Amino acid sequence: MADLDVVVVGAGFAGIYAVHALRSAGLTVRAFEAGGGIGGTWFWNSYPGARCDVESKDYSFSFSPELEQEWSWSERYPAQPEILRYLGHVADRFGLRPHIQLNTRVTAAVWSEDEALWSVTTDDGAVVTARFFVSAVGCLSAYQVPSLPGLETFEGSWYHTARWPAEGVDFTGKRVGLIGTGSTGIQVAPEVAAVAAELYVFQRTPNYAVPNRNRPWEPEAERAFKSRYREYRKEARESFLGVPITGTGRPVLDEPPEDVQRTFSERWRAGGGMPFLGAYTDLLVDQAANDVIAEFMRDRIRETVDDPAVAELLCPRTFPVGSKRLCQSDDYYAMFNRPNVTLVDLRSTPLSAVSAGGLSTTSAFYELDAIVFATGFDAISGALRQIDVRGTSGVALADQWAAGPRAYLGVAAAGFPNMFIVTGPGSPSVLSNMALSIEQHVEWIRDCIGYLSAHGYGTVQATSDAEDAWMAHVTEVAYSTLFPKADSWYIGANIPGKPRVFTTYVGGVGPYGSKCDEVAAAGYPGFALGVP
Ligand SMILES: Cc1cc2nc3c(=O)[nH]c(=O)nc-3n(C[C@H](O)[C@H](O)[C@H](O)COP(=O)(O)OP(=O)(O)OC[C@H]3O[C@@H](n4cnc5c(N)ncnc54)[C@H](O)[C@@H]3O)c2cc1C
Repeated sequence: MADLDVVVVGAGFAGIYAVHALRSAGLTVRAFEAGGGIGGTWFWNSYPGARCDVESKDYSFSFSPELEQEWSWSERYPAQPEILRYLGHVADRFGLRPHIQLNTRVTAAVWSEDEALWSVTTDDGAVVTARFFVSAVGCLSAYQVPSLPGLETFEGSWYHTARWPAEGVDFTGKRVGLIGTGSTGIQVAPEVAAVAAELYVFQRTPNYAVPNRNRPWEPEAERAFKSRYREYRKEARESFLGVPITGTGRPVLDEPPEDVQRTFSERWRAGGGMPFLGAYTDLLVDQAANDVIAEFMRDRIRETVDDPAVAELLCPRTFPVGSKRLCQSDDYYAMFNRPNVTLVDLRSTPLSAVSAGGLSTTSAFYELDAIVFATGFDAISGALRQIDVRGTSGVALADQWAAGPRAYLGVAAAGFPNMFIVTGPGSPSVLSNMALSIEQHVEWIRDCIGYLSAHGYGTVQATSDAEDAWMAHVTEVAYSTLFPKADSWYIGANIPGKPRVFTTYVGGVGPYGSKCDEVAAAGYPGFALGVP
């Protein structure tokens, strides 16, 4: 007899909601969280400038109409402290904290075929057993520090944005080096530049950034919006990205150039990445179409940055717009007009070493008091692979995923009975509004467990055939788009030695949700159901 019905790992958006949904379904649940607080991404990433890039009205839970009416977001794109407060409020409002054990890392999870239960070991040596094991470890939680020779000799301080000190960091008057110019680097840089004596931005790959046009959410607009929140949430669930976007519905290549410029300019003025990419139907599938939006964006960089040579270095050219996460910032490019900001081009002069006093490239030495790594994550599979997960016959998940992570419907791995992965490989996850994708997965998992109980089953596992077919479909859809063209973290290119596999489902949140619903309604084809 298991100690619990369900063990959940992680207490971010996914873990919090899993605890609530599964407990509400009458199950006994405990979540283990490595961090000292709940919130996941929003607990750890407390660097200055951290904020969401999906609007708060979308990037929030929809499961409770009361919650969404009660809670007021202050801004269109709230900053990290507010999102963390929101998640704390959710935990308190639904009485979840007693069921979440903080400061506890899950180190191993082993399936016992004889007993049909999972034995879950934590870093304090405790072992707990459960009928079901739910991974809510996060797609972007295993952070990466690049292995730079000499980093241990650096006499200044260094920080990774995903492990930012809770008490904050004062860069006033300091010489700071920033490594990493993705979404996070672009958010943190202007904040550091505003106070530091010098900011050196070490850039290997320039990125596209669209403006946020962040603004307060005025009470009147909020009231008007909230009066149709339920309908809006339904539209979001049926949408492509998990956010209802109004596009032209036409290919950009068929449009007169002046109309294209007008459409892009309007969306540039309105801000936000998703409306931009959703403007035309061919932007993410046709290179020639993508070149149109790319040139529009490069023109915006050129008109913002005073020094033409710096502007050219900031212009991305090596990957299609949107094939890496489209960054959002109101002040990143303009920051390069400040006298205390220097762009260092690592393509022409790569980093060579860190020493006591700073960083060297192949052509210069930069004296630094602090280094900020905004170098991202071992995405999608990294955090789960850090747990020794063993399924049927002791097979290790890490071995099964040696050629790349895979899961039927992005939620269940073959050979790992009664284990579910929230926003796992093969689901829309990081290419969607994740709050919505998390809810959809958690509810599907809850309903699947409910189905087993109602029909006298004790176990469920994806079949290898179903997993193979699903991942083949995921790959086929991905390769009909421009996404795999980029050396991105979506494809594992940021982690040395990681297999280069595109495992995110780009067929759309709405169609994906329908497929999951169909499988559930048909009695879970593609899964082997077993008696207890
Ligand atoms: C800076 C930043 C901004 C983002 N902005 C957006 C946005 O605007 N819109 C969007 O859709 N997405 C955004 N994301 C993606 C974001 O990760 C998800 O939206 C969402 O927060 C993920 O929630 P989660 O619960 O799945 O994972 P997480 O929030 O990552 O939580 C996972 C938790 O699991 C814990 N954990 C991991 N392994 C173990 C273990 N072995 N034992 C115990 N605990 C463990 C971790 O400590 C972590 O707290 C952003 C990500 C980052 C990093």
